[in-house]
Amino acid sequence: MTLDGKVAFVTGGSRGIGKAIVLALANAGADIAINYAGNLTAAEEVAEQVTAMGRKVILVQGDVANTTTATEMIEKVVTELGKIDILVNNAGITRDGLLVRMKEEDWDAVLTTNLKGVFNCTKAAAKHMMKQKAGKIVNISSVVGIMGNASQANYAAAKAGCIGFTKSVAKELASRGINVNAVAPGFIATDMTKVLPEKVVEKMAAGIPLKHAGEPKDVANAVLFLVSEEAAYITGQTLNVDGGMLM
Ligand code: NAP
Repeated sequence: MTLDGKVAFVTGGSRGIGKAIVLALANAGADIAINYAGNLTAAEEVAEQVTAMGRKVILVQGDVANTTTATEMIEKVVTELGKIDILVNNAGITRDGLLVRMKEEDWDAVLTTNLKGVFNCTKAAAKHMMKQKAGKIVNISSVVGIMGNASQANYAAAKAGCIGFTKSVAKELASRGINVNAVAPGFIATDMTKVLPEKVVEKMAAGIPLKHAGEPKDVANAVLFLVSEEAAYITGQTLNVDGGMLM
């Protein structure tokens, strides 16, 4: 599996799953644009690792939820790295709470970052991919978007929306040589899940057939496959990476 000569833009590439995706794509030969929201130190550390692999790398700070910013970020990738072959919409946040207590701003923050952010970046990148008649887009959803989860009505709605978006855009862009797929991680050990109480984590692990949380690289390996030529005949799909949690 090689990505030699390809340019990839990974949103939320500074930490967790996004960082693992950046490293997997760079290891396969791609030059990388790393987006992050505010954690410059973390982003710089990932960039150093990419440089050590002999790939080109740029840092692209910005909020994916902001349409103007997202468009400018894609333009920066094309200007500085020459093109965009691969887009991984990975940036995401949680603002958990029971529906009756969920604040409007928590609904809005999760929907704008996790769903509108995917729309913003995909729309801007698709313009370039359509011109070159080739491209790979992977959207990081969640099994929660398929099965639902108490205290995550906002997150589940955004992640379910992400799957519907993936299928629709896959149908629109197929004739232009662009594959659009989603990956739905289950319970993965990152900063996002570190905040969960130990009891919740134990209960969750007990419900996973493989009996443990996944690692960011487990998700990255699925993304690597979907953006490779080996997955050329796959589009509009959602691949669960969840230790069998949902089947
Ligand atoms: P994480 O460790 O919290 O990292 C989130 C990343 O997203 C960081 O790089 C962060 O940048 C970036 N980010 C957050 N808001 C952003 C914004 N508005 N614009 C640009 N970048 C932004 O999260 P993770 O666990 O790796 O999750 C990555 C993706 O996988 C998310 O979409 C999440 O919903 C999904 N997912 C995770 C799990 C899990 O169990 N962890 C399960 C299913 C799905 P900074 O470093 O600058 O803050």
